[in-house]
This record gives sequence, structure tokens and C-alpha cells, in this order.
Amino acid sequence: MDQDLFQSPDYFQLDELLTEEHRMVREAVRQWVKKEVSPVIDGYCQRAEFPSHLLPGLGSLGCFGPTIPAAYGGGGLDYIAYGLMMQELERGDSGIRSTASVQGSLVMQPIFAFGSEEQKQRLLPKLATGEMMGCFGLTEPDFGSNPAGMLTYFDDDGDHILLNGAKMWISNAPFADIAVVWARDPQHKIRGVIVERGMEGFTTPETKNKWSLRASATGELVLDNVRIPKSNILPGASGLKAPLSCLSAARYGIAWGAIGAAMDCYDTALRYARERVQFGRAIAGFQLTQKKLAEMITEITKAQLMNWRLGVLRNEDKATPEQISMAKRNACDTAVRIARESRQILGAMGISGEYPIMRHMMNLESVITYEGTHEVHLLITGMDITGLNAFS
Ligand code: FAD
Repeated sequence: MDQDLFQSPDYFQLDELLTEEHRMVREAVRQWVKKEVSPVIDGYCQRAEFPSHLLPGLGSLGCFGPTIPAAYGGGGLDYIAYGLMMQELERGDSGIRSTASVQGSLVMQPIFAFGSEEQKQRLLPKLATGEMMGCFGLTEPDFGSNPAGMLTYFDDDGDHILLNGAKMWISNAPFADIAVVWARDPQHKIRGVIVERGMEGFTTPETKNKWSLRASATGELVLDNVRIPKSNILPGASGLKAPLSCLSAARYGIAWGAIGAAMDCYDTALRYARERVQFGRAIAGFQLTQKKLAEMITEITKAQLMNWRLGVLRNEDKATPEQISMAKRNACDTAVRIARESRQILGAMGISGEYPIMRHMMNLESVITYEGTHEVHLLITGMDITGLNAFS
């Protein structure tokens, strides 16, 4: 993209609901994305390469663990600031937001919530700067939507454990220094274990041939009798509730992020429609184009309001996992539809890397699937409102 001309849609003056700090945080990330991400991201996607040179910038902007207390190297910010950061990052690219979400919500958050003081002191400050990167291993080849069935396990080996199993579709795995791996202990309880790169028997082969999130590195975690000190087990995490609580934190960020991608698609389509002339007039003047654009901004506005309210509830520690599910599902569904409509407005140019829309469209196919699929989140809402479990 030659120049990033993004102008953020704010149809209901939501800016008035934000504090000065929120606006400053958002502006800092927005400007960074314009300067560092937009000019290079298409090339990285086309080459299916992870732009690792962006990691120190993400760290110094405070995008890794923004809600973690400053004493551990985090930003000590509230959840609306965190949401705005994710919105701006995904406005640039879902892969960049994924890297930040995994690091903050799925690696730093479990260490902060369930780790020992020694683990927190040793790992969190380095993870906050990006000097150390992490990944989160829950999904297995045969257990995606149903992580309760996981097979990865460890045996007791004195002051160590022996970890065996395989995880797949793991974001950041190919370059991560540590992995938070969820596995069964000898009593069959699900526990969190910190696995370090270099431990014998631990490898992270990259997953190739993706048509989505091409600028994000995805891989497997292969665990072949990995001998790990017991001090690497997260002492406070026992049962599936622990990883699910981390997923809630990450899903919250996705709700904001996916709308960032939708805002970029809408903004691009609006600008293009005003400039593109067919039949002697700007295509923005045709009713069919206006229908698309009017419906897009309506859906974006509804999702922005839902996200903001969810942020307020989360700041008050009142947001339920079910509310987060609804927001994640709504944002992804909205964004997928908006990306598709925007691409149509650009005609043939919509498939070109000169514009961000096709990249967002392909990225969002992962975003609507990971951290709970579209169907799984619907079933969560269904169970919440009816009291009946339709999962199995
Ligand atoms: P499945 O569970 O096999 O589902 C297939 C289909 O069946 C879906 O449509 C699903 O909705 C539907 N389905 C399943 N159960 C039901 C049901 N009860 N009722 C109705 N429909 C149902 N995982 C991690 O642990 N860490 C990561 O960092 C990570 N990063 C990822 C990055 C990418 C790019 C991708 C694509 C995935 C990533 N994942 C990660 C994995 C992701 O979370 C899983 O793909 C997701 O949970 C779905 O699991 P699955 O792919 O095995 O699909």
C-alpha cells in the first residue's frame, strides 16, 4: 500500500466515551501501524513471512500485556485501552494483533494469574518488552472445539515431569522462546506447564500453505518425553477453567480487533466509492453502493457500542464469559461480511494487494474460527439463555 489514508469511522461519537488516556493510547498505536505496518504488511503476507522486526516496537508501545500491572512490566492499563490497542493493531493486520493477543492474553495472563512469584518475576518483564516471546498450546490434532478431550499428558519423574503429546495450529510457535502447554497430570487433571525452547524432545515445526494469517507464524508443538523441572508447572492452574479463563481474555481482544479490520475495509471502500467513476458518476452515488456502505457503518457502530459496553463491564470485573462470547462472535461475523461487501465495491481492485481488503477477508476466516468457532460461541449463548447444553 503506497499510503495509509485510514480515517476511523465513529458515527455515534464514541470518542466522547473515552478518556484522554484511551485516546492517547489509541493514537500511539494508530500512528505506529500507519508508519511501520501498513507500508510493509502486504509484502510479508504475499511471502507468508512473519515480520519479526516489528516485535520490539510492539513491546515498546506496551501492546504485550497492557493490563498486567506495571510491577511485572505490563502497562497497568484498563480493558478499554487494551481493546483499542487490539482494534488498531488488527486494523493493520489480524496477524499482528494475533501475535500481541497470544503474548498478552494467552502467555502473560496465565503466568500472571496462575504462576508462582518466581515465574512471574523471571518471565513477565521480558515478555512485556518482547525480548522473550511465548505461545499457547491448547488445540490438539483430534481436539479443537472440545479441548476437554486432550491427550497430552505428563508423568512424574522426581523433581521433574516427562511431557508427551502434540499440539497444532499454535500461533507464534515457530519462534516462541516459551510455550504455555496444557496437559494432563498423573491424576488426569489439566495443568499448565511452561516449556522452554532448547529442552530436549521439544520441537515446533511451522505450518505451511496457509491462505489466511499469512503474516503470522503458526506451528505445531511436538513433545517427545520432554524433561521439565516441576518448578515450571503453573501452581494455580488446575482444570479446564484455567485455560478457558485465558481464552476469555483473548476473545475480548478479538472482539475489538475484528472490528478494527472491518473499519479498515469500510474506510477503504468508502474512499474508493467516492473516487471511482462509472457511467459518468462516482459509484458512491448509486443506491446499491450506498446500501452496502450504510449497512456496513450501521453494523460497525453496533459492534463498537457492544465492545465499549463490554469494556466497561470488564473494567468493573462484571463481564461474563458468555457476554465475551457474544461480542467475539458478533464482531467476527460482522467483519467477515463487511470485508466481503467492501471487496465487491472495489471490483477487480478488491483482489489486489494494493488495497488491504482481500488480506483482511482471508485473515478473518481464521479469526472467526480460532478461540472458539462461530458455532461454538452460538452454543455458549444458547446454553446461557436456555440453561440447556447443546454441545454434546
Ligand atoms: P473442530 O473442532 O474440528 O470443528 C470443525 C467444525 O465443527 C467447526 O465448524 C465447528 O464449529 C463445528 N463443531 C464442533 N463441535 C460442534 C458442536 N458441538 N456443535 C456444532 N458444531 C460443532 N489453538 C491454540 O491452542 N493456540 C493457538 O495459538 C492457536 N492459534 C491458531 C491460529 C490459526 C491461524 C488457526 C486457524 C487456529 C488456531 N488455533 C490455536 C486453533 C483453533 O483454536 C481451533 O482451530 C478451533 O478451536 C477449532 O478447532 P478445530 O479446528 O479442531 O475445529
